[in-house]
Amino acid sequence: MKKIIFFFLFFYSCSSDSEDIGVSDSSIKCKDEVKFEFHNFSNIEIENNVMVRGIKEILSNIDLKSTKLKVPIHYIFYPSSGLSASQANAAATKIASRQFPGSDSSSNEKYKFVYDDLYSKLQKEAITADLPLGSCGGSVTIALPPKDQSLDFDNYYGKVSLHEYHHIFQNTPLHNNPSGNKKYVYTWMKEGTAEYWALTKFTEFGYSLSTKDIVSQVSEIKSKLKEDTIIMDGKSYKMAQYRKMSLYDDEFGDSFPIHSTEIGLVITHYMITVKNKKLEDIIKLYETGTSVGREKALEDFLGISYNNFETEFEVWIKD
Ligand SMILES: [Zn+2]
Repeated sequence: MKKIIFFFLFFYSCSSDSEDIGVSDSSIKCKDEVKFEFHNFSNIEIENNVMVRGIKEILSNIDLKSTKLKVPIHYIFYPSSGLSASQANAAATKIASRQFPGSDSSSNEKYKFVYDDLYSKLQKEAITADLPLGSCGGSVTIALPPKDQSLDFDNYYGKVSLHEYHHIFQNTPLHNNPSGNKKYVYTWMKEGTAEYWALTKFTEFGYSLSTKDIVSQVSEIKSKLKEDTIIMDGKSYKMAQYRKMSLYDDEFGDSFPIHSTEIGLVITHYMITVKNKKLEDIIKLYETGTSVGREKALEDFLGISYNNFETEFEVWIKD
């Protein structure tokens, strides 16, 4: 049997965790303007001003007012070594108070939930996006490495910031309609399409992916997926099960040889190049999924059952 050895690469350290923390509270009136707001904690903007500037510059290409988002997005920049407990407390208090204005930690469950979540995340390396139901703002945590860290391409964290912004965009239909279908998007689509969109916009906005363009990344991931067995970090994986997209319906795949972001990128590429779908139509599935659920949204879009789509994709991978 052919065995191929791969190593885990640092592609993504990303997750999105829009938790359902209760129904929308109609007593909260959001007053903040729809825009990107940037918050620096510790001395990150002095330590790492090139990365921070690159992120602000790339996000300036996005006109939030033309989207359906009704609240601001708070980008939180901090060092990947994590904030101290007292800095994390100050940061979490500042952002949670904007997300749930008029609340305080003891009286409001939702405020407490986002406060606790941020307080814990900001003390370690976290790259996440969240648009809690009923909140007056999204939050994106961007842990930045030391400025001399080598990266795949220039303004790599600009690409990461686009990916995280796309998670806010994905969550917007549910945020606007909290009684919608909670299973409105598959994890492989959430991650894969966010990455595909981020890579596409990154180049559209005039930046270079160097050797990490979509076609190169897809072919690298596809070559892993088509193997019988791969060995990564000394562990052997039978790949047949990891080619099944349904494995990643609700699973990020942090402990898998293939991450949901990777297989999702390949599935998005497959829909565009083989099924002749447009990226702008694929991303409309979040909204459709919010009303009819993710399975019906996808099946109506592709004109085939989910099972058949999964099988066709596996055949294409092995081709
Ligand atoms: Zn993500």
